[in-house]
Parts: sequence; C-alpha cells; structure tokens
Amino acid sequence: MSQSSVSSAQKGATAEFDAVIVGAGVGGLYALHRLRGLGLKVIILEAADDVGGTWYWNRYPGCRCDVESMEYSYSFAEDLQQEWKWPERYGTQPEILRYINHVADRFDLRRDIRFDTRVLAAKFDTENNQWALKTDNGGDISAQFCIMATGNLSLPRVPDFPGLDDFKGKSYHTGLWPHEGVDFTGQRVGIIGTGSSGVQSIPLIAQQAKHLHVFQRTANFSLPARNAPLDPEVERKHKATYAAHRLAAFDTPFGIAGFPPPTKSALEASAEEREAAYEAKWGEGGSISFLYAYNDLLVNKTANDTASEFVRNKIRATVKDQVVAELLAPKDHPIGTKRLILDSHYYETYNRDNVTLVDARSAPIEGITPNGIRTTEAEYEFDAIVFATGFDAMTGALLDIDLQGTNGTRLRDKWADGPRSYLGLTMADFPNMFLITGPQSPSVKAQMILACEQHTDWIVDCLTHMKSARMSRIETSQAAEDAWVQHNNEVADSTLYPLANSWYMGANIPGKPRIFMPYVGGFDRYKLRCDEVAANNYEGFTLSSAETPAMADA
Ligand code: NAP
Repeated sequence: MSQSSVSSAQKGATAEFDAVIVGAGVGGLYALHRLRGLGLKVIILEAADDVGGTWYWNRYPGCRCDVESMEYSYSFAEDLQQEWKWPERYGTQPEILRYINHVADRFDLRRDIRFDTRVLAAKFDTENNQWALKTDNGGDISAQFCIMATGNLSLPRVPDFPGLDDFKGKSYHTGLWPHEGVDFTGQRVGIIGTGSSGVQSIPLIAQQAKHLHVFQRTANFSLPARNAPLDPEVERKHKATYAAHRLAAFDTPFGIAGFPPPTKSALEASAEEREAAYEAKWGEGGSISFLYAYNDLLVNKTANDTASEFVRNKIRATVKDQVVAELLAPKDHPIGTKRLILDSHYYETYNRDNVTLVDARSAPIEGITPNGIRTTEAEYEFDAIVFATGFDAMTGALLDIDLQGTNGTRLRDKWADGPRSYLGLTMADFPNMFLITGPQSPSVKAQMILACEQHTDWIVDCLTHMKSARMSRIETSQAAEDAWVQHNNEVADSTLYPLANSWYMGANIPGKPRIFMPYVGGFDRYKLRCDEVAANNYEGFTLSSAETPAMADA
C-alpha cells in the first residue's frame, strides 16, 4: 500500500523543496510538523510503505518499549497527551505504531510523505546551496536543507555466516519481521542473539515452538519489567501535571522526570543496606530506577560489582539448572554498560523442557547449513532460524546513503575512523544538513522521543534565526567539531561504558571503529550546551548568505 501523496508528475523529475527529511519515524514526523509550521515546503522520503520507523519494522513477538508508555510519547501537544490512553505500563509495538499512525493522521502529515522511497545518495551543490538527493524510485529531490531522521537502530544486521543462503527452512531478522506474524507452533526453532530483541522474543517463541535452542555468545543483564495494565489512578495523577512533568524531563540526565539523582555511593552503604536497596529496585522494575540505586554504579567498578552480583544471584535463584544459570549470569561487563534489558519471564523460560541454551562463546557458530546451524561442536536441525543479531547502530543508516558534502568530502571517508559531529547535530563539510539524534548526542541514552523533539526544536530555532538574518547557509567549523568529539570521548572515558563490547562502541560489527558513540554527559547538560551555542550567535558555525537568497518568505 503506497501512501504517497506526492504527485506522480514529480517522480522522474527533480522536485524542489525548502527542506527534505529522510525518515518517517518519530523524529522525521515531528520535524515535518515543525518545519511546516515555519511555512516551509517540506517533504519526507521514507523507504517503508508507512510511518513508524523502528516501530514499523520491529514486529517480533514480545516487542515492547523499555521506557514507560506515559514517558515514551510526544510532549509537544497537550491535547494529544491528555487524550491518548496507553493500556499498559510499557507500550507494545502494535500500540506504539497505532499511536504514531494517530499522530500522522491527527497532524495531517501523510500528504507530505513520499513512501516506498529509499534515499541512495545526497550531494551538496555548493554553488546553489542545495542538497540533491537520489532515490530508488526514479524521483530526485533538491532542497536547501536536509534533515537526516534515519534512526539509531535502523540498519538490521545478520552476521556474515557461511552458508546463510543454503538454509532450507524459514529465517527471520527481528528488525525485519513479517507483517502477518509468524506461527512457530510445532516447529524446531533456533534463535541467535540475546540482546533486547532476543530476550523479549524468547519467552513467547518458547511458548509456541516444539523446541527452542537459544544461541548465546554473550550473556546480558536483564531486569524484570514488571509490566502491567496501566493503573487508572497512576494515569490520572500523571496527566494532572503532564505539561510540567514534560518540561522537567528536559532538565534531567535521561530525559525522564521523576527519578531524583542519587546522592550516595554504593560503597558507603553496608552490604545489608545495599541488598535491601537493590531488592526494592528489582521489585519496582525499570532500568533507570535500578541504576539510580547509588550515584557511582556507572563510574566505579567496585560499586558496580555489588549491583552486578545482585542480579547474577537473582539469575542463579531463578534458573533451576545451575550450569545454565552460570552461563546466563553476565561476567564480562559491568551492569548498565550495555543496554540494560527489561524482560517478562526471560530467565524463567530456561526452566522449560523445550528450551535449550547453547553456549556460542565456547563453541562459536561456524555457519548455517541447509538444515540448521553448525557450531564448532555440534550440528542442530531447525525448521526456522531467528536472527536477533542487532543493528549497525548509530552510524549504519547514515553510511548506507552515499552522502557527499563540500570539497568532495564523503561521509564514508570522513567517518572511516568513527563518527565525527558537532553536538550530534551537524558535521563540518556538510552545510545545511542536520542530524536528528546523531552520534555524539544523547540519543539512545535518553528518552528517544524527547531527544528527537529537542533536536528538532533547536533546528527550527536555527532556521528561524537564519531566515530573520537573511542567511541561507550554515556550516560547522572543523575546530568546533573536533572539540566536541574530544569532549564526547572524555566524558565516555570518565565512565565504565567503554569497558563493554557494546553496540554503543561499534563492537558488534566486525571491523567497525571502536568509539563510544552516544553522549553520556547527561541530556540536561547537553541541552544547556545546545542552547548556549545558539545564544552565542551560533558558536562554532558560520552563517552566510553566499550565492543564493535567504529562504523565501512564507
Ligand atoms: P543487540 O543488543 O546488538 O544484540 C545482538 C545479539 O546478537 C547479541 O546477543 C550478540 O552477541 C548476538 N550476535 C551477533 N552476532 C553474533 C554471532 N556471530 N554469533 C552469535 N551471536 C551473535 O541487538 P538487539 O537485541 O536487536 O538490540 C539492539 C538495541 O535495540 C537494544 O540494545 C535497544 O537499545 C534497542 N531495543 C530496544 C528494545 C526495547 O525498547 N525494549 C527492544 C529491542 C531493541 P554479542 O553480545 O556477543 O555480540
């Protein structure tokens, strides 16, 4: 079903816009809404046939957000947030997608979205200050401003296993799940990967499959989500102060209000006190809550060890087979340095007779065979294989497009040793291009929708300023970018995050440069810096009116 409302006359010819947005996920949709508000002629180009981004593609069983539903939603429209009813504490994928569709309809966004259109390349035309975009459906686009809302976890990745194409059964990637769903009833299923997607889907696939083999290379920490129907009284209270709560969220480290930062070190507490504190957090559910038990869990390894061991003991107490429990108990990274997972009955699933954990660390997967999976120790036969093997995170979707800025600079060359950006918002040599939640911004370390709103609001203010100053071009200085990259790295190095082989570090992709990609200095500090940059007359940027006139009056 193509929802494109852009006239077919524009296809095959170059259509001109003030701004083009790549991606119709939560970031791109809000950007379209706000840029339209400036009176600009805007279009979104979207590879899928409908809105939703990550929530469009990830339809695997059990897919659910790990941020509470009253938080994981737009803050920009009071009516919307008052009227929308979330049925559960954590939103399911279908529910979140329904919400995003509602937003698209409510703000009449679809008429400016060209679906089924993948952007292949974008090149900056210095003389005309225009981005020229090539797409896969014949229609080219040119626009003065280009906004990349391509998502942080949007390029699914299947490891390059030998024999991948030989498998005679069905195979699925969690991030490209069939819309009609999959019925595993009576099937022998193998799943590779125990990150958030694997941990969420394993309990549900196990309920259907005849037998499920889980191939785990690295054990991850997971906490019970404690999902439940949303208590009407909790909802009522939340909505009574929704606007103030949202405003407060912009001044918090994770973009979520209601979690006062802890003041005490784990090492100041007695062992009994710590146990009681962790037990209370374990019962509450939620990752921020748990990691906020003490103020040094993400910066002091000894402090972190106390929390890590608490969770390992919970796994040992839940999983009956102690050999399996020990394999599931993570020992190679401090808790919280990889995305802390929230689950529903994950560890309990290993007590089922029809579930087998395969240690793909001691016996790595060698390849896919016509009948299943072969490790260095054994061969397994399956009717279906599920790849819960993650994404080329943070940079993958951007590098998938051949982006070319000034002086012939290609993003693929510029980022060959890791991403480089100014505030995760812009890049030197890429004038008039903005990233929504780019690398070196809080992005995945904050509530993503708020992070998208903050970036878009900053861009809208910037474009408004440019318009009133009759400027048509904004470019980032190399020095500003270098300083921000260095600051980002220093902040990461002051934490335990770099100790984990995580996708935050690019460690899940063979050959990808190891650099800690999200900004972990806190969403609040980051936002202040962005606001300061703007207040200081766009410090670190050069604004010019160069060769083309400033944006036309609306
Ligand atoms: P992921 O965290 O990157 O996990 C991928 C898994 O595949 C890992 O267990 C990895 O093992 C394994 N793997 C990769 N290559 C392998 C190989 N050659 N052999 C064996 N195992 C291999 O990906 P994800 O689970 O899709 O999650 C990515 C992120 O998306 C999450 O961290 C989260 O931010 C987001 N997400 C959020 C939710 C939610 O809101 N609840 C749900 C899903 C995803 P290694 O660890 O050894 O590399």
